[in-house]
Formats: sequence, structure tokens, C-alpha cells
Amino acid sequence: MKDLVIDLEAEKAEILKRYRTLLRASKSTLQKGDKKMIRKAFEMAVESHKDMRRKSGEPYIYHPIAVAQIAAEEIGLGTTSIVCALLHDVVEDTYVTLEDIEREFGKKVAKIIDGLTKISGVFDTNSSLQAENFRKMLLTLADDVRVILIKLADRLHNMRTMEFMPRDKQLKLSSETVYLYAPLAHRLGLYAIKSELEDLSMKYMERETYQFIKKKLNEKKAEREKFIHDFIEPVKATLTSQGLHADIFGRPKSIHSIWNKMKKKAIPFEEVYDLFAIRIILDSTPETEKSDCWKAYSIVTDSYRPNPDRLRDWVSSPKANGYESLHTTVMGPRGQWVEVQIRTKRMNEIAEKGFAAHWKYKESSSDSGLDQWIHKVRELLRNPDSNALDFLDDFKMNLFSDEIFIFTPKGALIQLPSNATALDFAFEIHSDVGASCIGAKVNHKLVPLNYNLQNGDQVEIITSSKQTPKEDWLNFVVTAKAKAKIKSSLKEEKRKIAEDGKEILERKLKSLKITYNSDNIQKLTLFFKLPSSQDLFYKVAKGQIDLQDLKEFHAAERTVENKPQDKIDQDQVQSLLRNVKAKDSDILLIGEDMQKIDYKLATCCNPIPGDDVFGFITVSDGIKIHRTNCPNAAKLMANYGYRIVKARWTTQHELAFLTGLRITGIDDVGLINKLTTVISNDFKVNMRSITVDSDNGIFEGTIMMYVNDTQHLDNLIKRLKQVKGVTGVNRFDSAPAQIEKAS
Ligand code: MN
Repeated sequence: MKDLVIDLEAEKAEILKRYRTLLRASKSTLQKGDKKMIRKAFEMAVESHKDMRRKSGEPYIYHPIAVAQIAAEEIGLGTTSIVCALLHDVVEDTYVTLEDIEREFGKKVAKIIDGLTKISGVFDTNSSLQAENFRKMLLTLADDVRVILIKLADRLHNMRTMEFMPRDKQLKLSSETVYLYAPLAHRLGLYAIKSELEDLSMKYMERETYQFIKKKLNEKKAEREKFIHDFIEPVKATLTSQGLHADIFGRPKSIHSIWNKMKKKAIPFEEVYDLFAIRIILDSTPETEKSDCWKAYSIVTDSYRPNPDRLRDWVSSPKANGYESLHTTVMGPRGQWVEVQIRTKRMNEIAEKGFAAHWKYKESSSDSGLDQWIHKVRELLRNPDSNALDFLDDFKMNLFSDEIFIFTPKGALIQLPSNATALDFAFEIHSDVGASCIGAKVNHKLVPLNYNLQNGDQVEIITSSKQTPKEDWLNFVVTAKAKAKIKSSLKEEKRKIAEDGKEILERKLKSLKITYNSDNIQKLTLFFKLPSSQDLFYKVAKGQIDLQDLKEFHAAERTVENKPQDKIDQDQVQSLLRNVKAKDSDILLIGEDMQKIDYKLATCCNPIPGDDVFGFITVSDGIKIHRTNCPNAAKLMANYGYRIVKARWTTQHELAFLTGLRITGIDDVGLINKLTTVISNDFKVNMRSITVDSDNGIFEGTIMMYVNDTQHLDNLIKRLKQVKGVTGVNRFDSAPAQIEKAS
């Protein structure tokens, strides 16, 4: 072993230096006695973590100091949070107890640390209950939002310092981050943190693409800056001449958001036009800020023509997370659309720091969108019997979506996710209104329940006392609230029917001379492959299991022993994992003994050799190989971490793998012919299907084909791009409809 020489004196000095930087960052919020309290927390943290080091070799205390720094500087939190951030890992990792904390720092701090301790380590265990843990984490929202905010700071610092972690840990942390933490940050209005979390996750999950976009952005930097400078010039001059003080600059979009755009539109980097936005930050007073924003808007659109469809006014109606800004897209000097964001200093601070800044400015009114949102989350969490994973999916949908504003007949404003239906609106008004809804009038016109609401609609709900929630409602409602209410009501209905079924079954068994006891009910449930005895009773009541079926059971019961149902449990997974891992260290090798181990390539992302991949253990289908950038990967890794196997390709060239290319171009007679010639003759690649769409001279085709590996595919793409008339060739990840079930 190599001797590690550590200069303890230098480290001590560095710790103090970092502590002083923290104090400077928190200065604006410090009140009498606060500094003393922070000092005490700092000393306790230093003392209790003193023998611990991070993976990088640095003293552990750097981490809590950094988390406190993020909390103070980037989220704008005050003394209590700084104290909690400094101590956030103390109870979890050292001899210090919660009682010690409470004695030294009081009840409030102890409660927040308790929350942080409970939700930390959630992902480090081999637990299959991660979804349930996510839910617990959200529950802390109900106690104190600061727990979530400090947790976000903690996660951000861990993501920033992840280089020294093993690859699988990096992937796991990254997937959880995109799956839950980034949406949470978004919803709490922490845009800067959200973008950074997404970029960092991408850096580890899709290393090559990340580096590629980063390089591309750098190459064009000088050109872009010149463009921004020229664009800003006339606007700046007019703003000043009209007496408006403003900061105006170009702001690059995050790598992750550029990548999203490339994927969504299936276009190469070169075709993404909005790599940056222009931001105008006005120095304004509370009385004039709205009119100042519009004045600036008018000045911008005097110089450049606006796109009328792209005006967004979040100044008059702020987003639910508190975001206020005026967005417009204008035609720039070189015939290119440019997004311009106009806001005041106050609005900007809220946009960057979210929640905390929001509270700082908000004096008395407790009626903001954010409060309403937190209220909604609490309400949702109160529903105890929703399945944790379903809940999380619904909840996440609501985290991501943008909102629309809908009016009640009396003119009250209700916020809903952008794809909400009339029925969602009904449930938003009241769960009873939703449950008895038979239709709606939108802008005085009668519409069905599944009608998609548009921004600004005025909606009146029509109810009937005879109506009850229906199963198919779940196919079109989008709000978590409506889903939860419908599910629980269907469940209640099912429970009642099952009750009847239980009596019917008892009678029928009696006629067959089978004893009615829990043992036999268990056997019957297994025999009919049902998840629970309630489902058995329900099917009996519905007549889906009749006397004849029961006779069959009776006969089978006497001849063979019943095999228990195919059910996955932790032990099974562990033993499967052990088998796989015993083969070759702990990495699953794909390619050579495809036949020997039971694994398949996932059809949602069609991995081919050369792709970064992992294995996922399924209940009945062996191990499935996914790409690490598969649309389902984040969800699988975040929720079923214990079922993930590391995997790597071995070199082989005999096998061919299915993949898809999207080709765009100028429609030209014989283009398809030229393409297929390249594919099948020059490259000897087998095609499975070709779909071509041609519209007004623009050609768009999708080709599914079998290739050997990424190298092979890259060469083919390069060659196809040279075909005359072709403007773009892109591999696409998956058929969007394929959502992997975790079974
Ligand atoms: Mn930590």
C-alpha cells in the first residue's frame, strides 16, 4: 500500500476557511445569536465526523459544510436550515443521538434532522420498498419543507462530487436524481438546481452524448457570443433611453434540455436553434414591475418581430411553483427564432431560488400557488391505501406537467396540469362532484367527461346522483387526485361485491363437500392464479368462476400437488443474482453464451453491442438487457435497484441486433431505392421494416434493421448521410409506447 501523507494542519486551515465562506454566504439572514448557533453546529459536526473521510480522501466535514453553503447561497435558507445542513449526517453516521441534538439545538432542529435521517439511506439498502420510501420522503413535506430542501442540497453536492464512486453507484444515484429529485426541485421552483441535477445525471448516464454536446457548444461559443452581442445592442440602447434599468444577457440552455429537444424532435445538434435565451432583468419597484415588464416587451418587439403563438405571460398568472416571467420568441437578425425572457430582479430571485425566496418576499398572503400545491400534496398523501408505486407515477406526472388555468362558472381560477380533462376539473372542485359527474359544459357547450381542457376554458360540471366512478375513467384522468379518488372508490365497490362473492363461494364449496377454511381459500386463490382471496370472491360474485371451475379444482386437488404461483421475492432475486455473479466477477457478459443464461434484449430500447447496458431481473422472463439511456432505465434503477445486474458486451460478430433509424430528407424519386441499396447491398444489413411518410416534398422514413454493433451502425449512418437528398439520419431509442412493466 502506498503511504498517504496528509498535512493535518493544512486541512484544519482549509476547514476553517470553508466555514468562513459559509458564514459570509449566510450573512444577509443572520440575526443576533445566529452566528453562535452556527458555530456550535459547526464544532459538533467537525468533532463527530473527525475520523471520517470521503471516497475522494478528503475530510468528511467538507461535505456538510458544502451542503450548508448550497442551502444558504443557492436556496436562500436561513440559520435553522444551515444548522441542520451542518448536522445532517451526524445522527446517521456518528455517535451523536437525536436527544443530544435536541438538548443542544432545540426541538425544531431535532425534528428536521430526524426527517433527514429517516429519508437518508433510503436508496442504500437492498430494499424493494423504495417507492414506499419515496412516499415517506414526500410525507416530510407535510412536516417541514426544509427537510426536502436540505435533502436536495445534499443530493446536489453528492452529484457534484461523484467522480470517485464506482460506476454502478454513479448510475444508481443518477437515475434516482432524474427520476425524483430533479422533478421535485422543478416543482419547488429551484430551476438552477433542477438543471444542474439533470446535467450531472446525464453526464454519468449518457457520457458520450453529454461530452459530444458539450464539445459542440464550445466550438460555437465565440460565434454565439457575437450573435448575442449584436442582438442585445439595439434593445439595450432603447431600454436606457426610456429610463429602464436592466441587466440583459444571453443565457445558455442546459445540455440536458438540448438533448431532450434532439430526442423529442429526432433532430441532430445542428438543427436545435434555441441553444440559449436572452434574459432581461429589470430593476423595478413593486408598484411598477408589471408595467415595466410590458414596456420592455414592447421595446424588444419594436426591434424584432414576435411569434404571436409563443407569448407566455406568467407575470399576470404565476405558475403554481411561484415562477413569474414574461416569455416571447422573436425573429432574430439572421432569420432565427430567439427566446426572450423578461422579469424583474425580485421575480428572478424567485425563479432561481424558488421556495425560500418566495417566502422572503411574501409578507402575509398565504394564497400563493405554491402553498396550494403543498396543500394538494398533503391531501394526496393522506390517502393511505393507494399503491406506493402507482402513487409515485401519478405524482411524478403532476410534477412534470405545465399547468393551464380554468375558470369556474363564477369566475374563480383553478390550476390544472396541461393535459387535464373535464373530469379532472370536477374532482378538483370536490371529490363528490367528480364521483357523480356525467358531463360538462365548456364555454357553454356540452362536452364528454374526457374532453381535454384548454387554457382559459370556463367549465360547468353536470352531476347525477345515480353516477358512480367507472374503471375506464382511469384511462383519461391525469391528476393524481382524481386517480386516487377513483381508485379508492372502485376498490370500495369491489370490496362490497367480494363480500357477496364470499357467501356464494361458501355455499358452493359446501355443495361440493369442500370445507370452507383459510387453507382451502388460499389453495383456490393459487389455483386460479389470483393475487388475493378478495379477487377470488369478486370473480365468484361476477360469475367468472362457477361451479364447473370449482369442480376442476376439486379434481386437481386430489391428483396433483399445486405449485405455488410465480411470485418474485427478495430471496429469489438474491439467489438469481448470486448465480449470475458467480460466473464472472459481478458482471454479466452478454453475447457469447446468450443461450446458457436466460436473458433477452429489452424491446423498449433495443440495445446493440457497444451500447452502455445493464441487466434487469424480471419475474417470468429471465434477465432483460436495457440501455442505460433507455427511457425506462431511470424508473427501473430507482425503484428496483436490487434487481439490477451490471452487464457488458463481449466481442462477437455473428449475431445481429434490431435497431431503428429515422431518416429525413428532400423527397426525390428513387431516394428510397438509394437508401435500401446502401443498407442491403453495400452494408449487407437485413431490414425488418420500412415506413415512409412524404409530405410536400419532405421525406421522413423509419427503418428497422439488424446490425452487429454501434461501430457498424455508425458507419452505416455516416454512409447514409452522404446519399443525395438526405438531410438527417438518427438512431431512435425506442418505440415510445413500450413502457416496461417491472414484472
Ligand atoms: Mn449527506
